[in-house]
Amino acid sequence: MSVVVVGSLNRDVVTRVAHVPGPGETVLATDLVRTAGGKGGNQAVAAKRAGGARVAFIGAIGADADGRVLRDALAADDIDVSGIEVVDAPTGTALISVADDGENAIVVAPGANAQRTALTEHQRTLVADARVLVTQLEIPAALVLDAASARGSAIHVLNAAPSQPVADGGAELLATVDVLIVNEHEMRDLSGRTDIEAGVDDLLGRVPVIVVTLGSAGCLVATPEGRRRVAAFPVDAVDTTGAGDTFCGVFAARLAAGGTAVPHLDLLVDAARAGAAAASLSVQRPGAQDSVPTAREVDVLLE
Ligand code: ATP
Repeated sequence: MSVVVVGSLNRDVVTRVAHVPGPGETVLATDLVRTAGGKGGNQAVAAKRAGGARVAFIGAIGADADGRVLRDALAADDIDVSGIEVVDAPTGTALISVADDGENAIVVAPGANAQRTALTEHQRTLVADARVLVTQLEIPAALVLDAASARGSAIHVLNAAPSQPVADGGAELLATVDVLIVNEHEMRDLSGRTDIEAGVDDLLGRVPVIVVTLGSAGCLVATPEGRRRVAAFPVDAVDTTGAGDTFCGVFAARLAAGGTAVPHLDLLVDAARAGAAAASLSVQRPGAQDSVPTAREVDVLLE
């Protein structure tokens, strides 16, 4: 398997609003749709649509209609869903408000995503066969650790999102990570530094590669070899939900194309450019998994 994603699946309940409500405020939505999401599911779809990669998803759903819809959505993208467990909890749900300026606010009820702290034998077999293992923190950190322990020679890409208090400040987790992907907020939370570069300085001793995504300002790729800024593709955003997930999935698929060795800085920058191109297409469309572009669309932008 090229890419194995261990992560969350959520039914996204998305409202469109004039502005994201503040504390105590009620706003009327102009639209409501239910779509397929969850950081793990979004990343698996992005990796698959990037082309070339065989992708498996490992996660949990409830014995309910939402769970079936989410599993079917991944299967329709030709993703191996044999590692999805049905557990005794409702399928994860994300309540998302998207404002007219593209900004969003999200509440996640983890449900089934929080139920498992260890992989099954079958799930371990899938992970052991991966070139790239992708994890995030919308599932228990213990499950991420267990996946990392099963990974064989795979590159472990951790998207440390959303920010979570992790035991021992994340030391045990970070020791398993080859590539850390975070946005600015997650970098500040993880490093305890307000300055992004200072946070990178601190964490680079513990993780070989760090990618900090910076929204419309692009991203920073940092290794002991050096640091490079990758510009975002300038677009008019209508919905940034899942931009980070699209970036991560496409980035992981690019790494998997090169095998199981962590690539040099130039190739990491190429992977980040592909991730940024895909993310820039996704923010121009509504939805999370629905908005992930195809390899062809990304290639046109990169030409
Ligand atoms: P989200 O939580 O909304 O999924 P995130 O905070 O994890 O996103 P961002 O840093 O916002 O991640 O975005 C990831 C990448 O997507 C950026 O590095 C950039 O390449 C691209 N991107 C995000 N927003 C825009 C935008 N408005 N215009 C162009 N590209 C964007």
